Amino acid sequence: MNDSLRHKGLRKRLVDGLVLKGISDQRVLEAIGNVPRHLFMESSFINFAYKDQAFPIGAGQTISQPYTVAFQTELLEIQKFDKVLEVGTGSGYQAAVLLEMGAIVYSIERQKELYLKVREFLPQLGYNPKLFFGDGYKGLPTYGPFDKILVTAGAPSVPDELKNQLKTGGLMVIPVGKPDRQSMCLIRKIGENDFKTEKHGSFVFVPLLKGTTKT
Ligand code: SAH
Repeated sequence: MNDSLRHKGLRKRLVDGLVLKGISDQRVLEAIGNVPRHLFMESSFINFAYKDQAFPIGAGQTISQPYTVAFQTELLEIQKFDKVLEVGTGSGYQAAVLLEMGAIVYSIERQKELYLKVREFLPQLGYNPKLFFGDGYKGLPTYGPFDKILVTAGAPSVPDELKNQLKTGGLMVIPVGKPDRQSMCLIRKIGENDFKTEKHGSFVFVPLLKGTTKT
């Protein structure tokens, strides 16, 4: 798969744009500079891959806007070897960014078609997250607890199962609200049943849906 000098140049410009928009974690910027986003997209959109925009990836879903990926990742204060649960694998792009930062990534997707596609595609780029087909509302109880949890779809409220699967001292980033607009919530688990929530602006995500698809 081709990652040319031209792609690298476009990526550098994308990263410069993210800096202007306020992203300051150098490790996040470096990771976005390293992941070949164009390879995660349908070929008809290849020329748009380095625009700071969301794009369709099939199955009615989108690859998040790079700014949103950078913003959520920055809030999570990712450290090397953090055990991270991502809810909503989608294209696998966010998982690749987390892996570039040295995290150990568990990612769950409810749409079988996307799960199967990413399971085949990501290892070809050398990215090896642990991928699961299932309902992210339930998290991954047998694999938790996690240092960080990242939800990449808009939730009506914060699922209790995800709160339970967060380590004390851990962080969860989750967009919470109505279907047309969500607040980016940063939740810090400060005790077994004690959480502190900060809101960081509003965003629009595809909805976090219950259950899984059959195909
Ligand atoms: N992180 C993705 C963005 C995906 S968009 C990327 O980098 O490309 C959100 C994804 O969440 C969609 O693929 C959608 O199918 C998935 N999703 C929605 N509800 C879910 C649930 N309950 N469990 C797991 N995945 C879910």
